[in-house]
This record gives sequence, structure tokens and C-alpha cells, in this order.
Amino acid sequence: MRDAESPIRLSEYRPPDYLIDEIALVFSLEPQATIVAARSHVRRQADGVTPLVLDGKRLELQSVSIDGQPLTTEQYSVTPELLTIHAPPASFRLDVVTRINPAANTHLEGLYMSGGRFCTQCEAEGFRAITYSLDRPDVLARYAVRIEAAKEQYPTLLSNGNLVEHGGMENGRHFAVWVDPHPKPSYLFALVAGKFDAITDSFKTRSGREVLLGIHVDPGDAPRALYAMDALKRSMKWDEDVFGREYDLDLFNIVAVRDFNFGAMENKGLNIFNSSLILADADTATDADFEAIEAVVGHEYFHNWTGNRITCRDWFQLCLKEGLTVYREQEFSADQRSRATQRIKDVKRLRARQFAEDAGPLAHPVRPNQYQKIDNFYTATVYEKGGEVIRLLKRMIGADAFKRGMDLYFERRDGTASTVEDFIACFAETSGRDLSGFMRWYEQAGTPAVKARGVYDAEARTYHLTISQRVPATPGQPEKKPPPIALQIGLITQDGERLTTQLETESVAHEEHHVVLDQTQHTFRFSGVAKPPIPAIARGFSAPITIDDGLSVEERLAQMAHDPDPFTRWEAGQSIARAMMLGQTSTPAAALATALGRELDRAQEDSAFAALALRLPELSELILASDKPDPDRLYAAREALRREIATALRERLEPLARAKSETPFSASADAAGRRALKSAALDLLAALGAEQTDTFLAAYQNSTGMGETIAALEALGAAGSGEFQAALDEFYERWKANPLVIDKWFAVQAAAPREDAMARVEKLRSHPDFELRNPNRVRALAAAFAMRNPRAFHAADGSGYRFVARLAADIDAMNPALASRLLTPFESWRRFDSVRQGHAKAELERLAALPTLSKNAREMVERTLA
Ligand SMILES: [Zn+2]
Repeated sequence: MRDAESPIRLSEYRPPDYLIDEIALVFSLEPQATIVAARSHVRRQADGVTPLVLDGKRLELQSVSIDGQPLTTEQYSVTPELLTIHAPPASFRLDVVTRINPAANTHLEGLYMSGGRFCTQCEAEGFRAITYSLDRPDVLARYAVRIEAAKEQYPTLLSNGNLVEHGGMENGRHFAVWVDPHPKPSYLFALVAGKFDAITDSFKTRSGREVLLGIHVDPGDAPRALYAMDALKRSMKWDEDVFGREYDLDLFNIVAVRDFNFGAMENKGLNIFNSSLILADADTATDADFEAIEAVVGHEYFHNWTGNRITCRDWFQLCLKEGLTVYREQEFSADQRSRATQRIKDVKRLRARQFAEDAGPLAHPVRPNQYQKIDNFYTATVYEKGGEVIRLLKRMIGADAFKRGMDLYFERRDGTASTVEDFIACFAETSGRDLSGFMRWYEQAGTPAVKARGVYDAEARTYHLTISQRVPATPGQPEKKPPPIALQIGLITQDGERLTTQLETESVAHEEHHVVLDQTQHTFRFSGVAKPPIPAIARGFSAPITIDDGLSVEERLAQMAHDPDPFTRWEAGQSIARAMMLGQTSTPAAALATALGRELDRAQEDSAFAALALRLPELSELILASDKPDPDRLYAAREALRREIATALRERLEPLARAKSETPFSASADAAGRRALKSAALDLLAALGAEQTDTFLAAYQNSTGMGETIAALEALGAAGSGEFQAALDEFYERWKANPLVIDKWFAVQAAAPREDAMARVEKLRSHPDFELRNPNRVRALAAAFAMRNPRAFHAADGSGYRFVARLAADIDAMNPALASRLLTPFESWRRFDSVRQGHAKAELERLAALPTLSKNAREMVERTLA
């Protein structure tokens, strides 16, 4: 046993003493008493006789035998968490029978019930809540699964792999046998049983395999799964076209369940999804929902190769599957939609979530080196920064060496449990480069801060750009080495001319220069520079860094108008707005309003980009950019700038906000872009306050889809309009039977930056539709409040901290993984004034003092307080 104080360390990894090659499971399903019989073929890997130690969680052992011989009590010891067989033979058949209670499982890991159906979640360590097992990713076994259940209540019986047999049994029961030919770790096991509606389709792989596709949803929901099915087929095609990866079974099933701790899970051949990421139609889903469904369906499908065929040796290597798959998902979305806007959205998400994490007490490397509960490391750093690191690798070695490296990885590591080193070795080989310095991206936490200053010599026509980097200290890592940073540098003039110049390392002149900063500081010398240049250092956001480039507002305005890179144009506008909101410039707001007006002129070409440009930096971003942030003052400054810009552009924004929606509804990227522009116009007009209520009500009443309805509600909320409540009441009456839409109703109120925010969330907490057991509902209230309403969460009287901490405590008893995640927003508590710090600390210490606090939540609280 491990006590709570001793973390699991990467440096202490040891291969397993025993391996399991084959496992046959028989489930006799009953909600309160499911019997699981597991027959494993076990073989010793260690030298000499050593105990076989199997993990368990809340298990009740019924029997254990080796090669058909029941074990005597001297031969083993057992607790609900551990089954130890003291001296097993070198190779044997192990039979273990356990009893579990899925109906009582509120943790939503292992086998549990959701809406009267059985389903599983095994990543990371849920399989041990089903049967005693070698529950670690480097033990790969072939699974055969027989499921038995009452036919009437559970007509659909699903597991991984291919269906080989099914039929009737006595007493109204029936069975199905599933065999997965691909060896897999236990975390990819899945089982589902219940009543579903299904839509089916098929996909023919490049080599001619006919794959039957099924999406299983609540009865009545089938039409709302069509978009997900379309996204699945596009994902399968895309992975063949871009990565040369084909699907490898005859069946691919997706099941949507309402009670799910995560977004979705990539179990081999049987993905299980949070229903919020499957169900969509124009009436009930926003464009963000459609986008997320496409991205997550793709993500889970892509795991079939990056995660399932090649899995992780241990949980420290989580980024090996997640960072890589996030990268693949982002590329898929970019190809399906607009590459420029996808990149900007990815960066916004990275900055909002990962940069905040990297700057606080929860900072950890992309590959962490220790943990108490791995559940706490499914983080923005592992996922989003992990994805950026792959993109950076591709920039550094070039697209060709990257592609050959991926091919080599798929070929060489297929069927193995691998490490980040195994992965990087493939690219070192195909690029012929020493990538040892690149490992710093995996080993060091903290966002590199890059500073760039240039000196132009008109006479010599030279430009010397000195770029330096510093990685800030993070918990446990006071000293850092410089990681290699890919920079994509372009120079333009104040008039927008693109300068063709030559770096001393280049043989010919270029408009854009791809360089790597792999030292603390370097001066890049450009020649043939005809005019004073305005440098863009990291076009396309070429590395996950912060940049201080010292540019003036005039220079940024030139970039906004003329830089050929859409990310640089967007970032220039954001930087100007940020500087204005933070009081770092005296340039009048009119200059920014004029520039944003130009984006509206260009909106015909790319309305999604114009929409992003109109969305000024969020309050959370300003908080992160300030030393001792005062949320109220920052909020006021942000609103003041938004008001000035909305006033200047009012004549152009109002028609956009009032425009009749396009019918029929199309989920295409172009149509979504036009709706995004309308939403952005509403958002900006909300800064003018209640005087715009008529505009918002018109948008609410004329909307033809959920996205526009929510945008109008958000505007009514943010404007402080008295009509907000009436619209909410009407909305509730219309949608009360649809839980996914009611989640939005909770979230739109929790996120509304209003004076009555706290009173509102308190009231929602006791609303009859608030369910502590349902993670979507909990997040719709608590995460929307803590993440999207920072002024209320960081209220000076501590009420926001108290609300979230106490809600997390209530949830902790039933669902520790969810409770622990709800505590993430406390990561910024030390940045604030002493009064706020005092409130946050008191709440965290109160949690720490709870004797019943889960290990998950305790680790989060202790790291946050450290
Ligand atoms: Zn994933």
C-alpha cells in the first residue's frame, strides 16, 4: 500500500513482474449485484518467484483459483483494494470472481449506471473497480467478453472488438460475446448494456474493409446523432489521407451517455461519449457545439492509432497519446474549416487554460515526473501544450521529416506501450537532428517568456533583431535550461510593404524566415532591409511562448492592417486592446475602433476572422497579465474600452445584430462564421448597456438556432437588462425537457457578469433541476461561474470562493475526480490582494481539514496551497 504522502515517480518505473496475454471476462449484469468472472493467462516476467499483486477498488472477492484449484487462505491475501497471491507458478490460468454494485457507483469510473443503462469508464484506473487486475497500461492482453443481462431492459449489449456470438438464455436473459483481436491495456476496456436507439452507416477503408458504424443514443435522440456520424466518416477518411492510417476492425461503435466525467473515451472499437458531444441539431446546438462534436469525434477516432495501437508505457507518458492526438484533432479541424481561425481559437484556448496553469501552483511539465492521482493530470498542459509541442517539432524538422517520422513511429512502435523517448527517437532518425534539447519541452514546466528588440541601420540597410528567452521558475523547478523555440519571422513596413530580406544564415532573400532560438539569447542579422521594419516574431504562433516585442501602437496598427499572417493581424488587435485596458498606452480608443471597422469591411471575405477580431481580450486574460490584479477595476476598464468601440461602430454593429438569420440552417464553417459575427456584434453592443435591450430582444426572437438564442441571452445578461429574467423564464419553459439545453440555461446565468451573479448561482444551486450526480449539470453551474465569470468568482467578500469550494466538498463524497477538477480555478489565488488571498486560503484550508476529503481533492488542495 502507498500512503497519501508518497507520490508515484517516473524515475521509479519498473516493468511488471507478471504479464497477462489473454483475458476472458463473463459479466452477469444486475444493477446492484453484478458478478464478474475473469479468467487470465498469466506469465511471470520477473526472475524468480515473486508475489502477484493485483489492483482492486471497492471489490468483493467471491473466489480465486489457479489452474482450476481454489486457493487456500494461506495462498493469498485480499482487501477491497488489493489481491496478493503469494507464490504463484511461472505460468498459469487465474480465475477470479468478484461482485460489484454498479447502481451504487457514483464515482463514474469502473462499471456504473447512467439513465438505467450500464456503462464503463476505465481510464485511467477504473478497470480495477471491475475486477482485480494488473491495471497498468504496459500490460497488454487480448480480451474476450461475454455479457449476460435481462433482455427486456438491456436489449443492446456492447463491448470492444467484433461481435462473434449472441443468443437467448433462460429467465428472459440473453448474451453477447465480443472478441477484440488487438491486445490492449485494461484502460481501453469498455462495456455498455441498455436500451438505445441507433443510427448505422458504413465506411469502406482504402484497402477495402467494410466497417459498420453505429451511434447509440437515448430513445428518440437518433436524428440528433447524424452530424456526429458525418464527422466520424470524415475523420476516418482524413486519417487515411493525411496520416495513412486505416481502421482495423469490422465494427466501430459510439455510445452517448448523459452521466460522464469527461468529454469522451477512446475505448477500442467502442467509444463512449458524453451526450453533449454527440447530440446536435440547429434547434438545440450552438456552432461551438457542432465544432466541438466534430473535433472530439475526430480526436477519439484518431486515438485508434495514437493511443490504442501504440499506447503509453506508464501514465507519465500520457502526453504521448494526448498531445499527439490533440495535434491531429486540430489539424483535422483546420482542414475541415478555416486554418486561420482554427489556429486563433487553439491559441485562445491554450492561453486561457494552459498559460494560467503554467503560471500558478499547479504548473507541471508536459510529462509530469510525479503524481498522487493521475486523474489530476488530465490537464491543459498535457493536452494543449502537448499538442503545441508536436506542432513545434514539425516546424523545427520540417514537414517532410515529420511525416517520415510519424510513419516510422507507426511502423516501429505498433502494438507496444511506448515512451516519449521512443517517439522522439523516430524524428531524430528521419531528420538526422540531435533532438536531446527538444526534450526540455517535455521536462520543464513554465511558459518561456521571449523578448525581442530590433535595431535598424538605414545606411547599412541592416536590421539586428536580438531575441532572448527566459523560462520562469515553477514548483520544484527553480532553474531552467533554454528550450529550442521555433520562430517564424516576417518584416513589413509601416505602409504594409512586405520586406524581402536575407538572414546571415540564408543563401537567398525571403519574405519570411524560419529560425530556431536554442540559446538564452541570439541576435538575428538581416541584410537588404530597404525600409524601417516592423517585425512579426512568431507568425502562426510558432511556439507556445509569451512575447514582449516592444512594438508601438502605430506599428501594431500597421500589422493589423497589413501583415500577411492572420494570427499576427488578430494578435496585433488583441495586444492594442490589452494595452489600452491595462492603462499601458495613451493612444485613444478611436484608433482601435477604426482598425476594427476595417475588419468589418473585410468581413465579407472571412466573417469568422472578423468575429474573432471583435472579441476583445477576456477579463481572465487581463487578470493573468496583471501583477496584483483588481478584478473590479479591470472589468471596468475593459467595459469602458468596449463601450467606446461599440459607440464608434454602433451603426455597423446594430444591423449585424438585428439581421435575420439564414434559413435553412447550415452547420458549414461559412454559415457558422456569419453567425459568429452576429454574436460578436451582440457581445460588443452589450457594453452599451440596457439601452440596447430592443436589439437583443429582436435577436432573441428572430433567432433560428440555439447559437443565436444563447448569444442574445448572453447579451441581455451582460448588458444588465431587466428583460434577462423574462427571457430566461421563457427559455426554460420551452426547453425544460431537454437536459443538454437546460445545461446551457444554467451556464448562461452562471457566466453572466452581473451584480446579482452570486445570488443567482446560489438560487440555481437549489433549483430542482440541479443534480449533484450529473457532471454536465455541475460544470454548467460551477465551472461556468468560476472560469467564465472571474469578477464574481474572485469577489472581494470571498463569496465566490466559498460557493465553489463548498460545492466541491459536497460532490467529493460521490465523485472525487469531478470535485478535484472544480477546484482548478483556485490556482490563481496568490496573484490577488491579501483580502482575497485570505478568503481563498481559508476555503482551501477548510477543505484540507476535512477528514473525509478524497485523495484526488486532497492532492489538488495541497498543491494549490503549497
Ligand atoms: Zn484523448
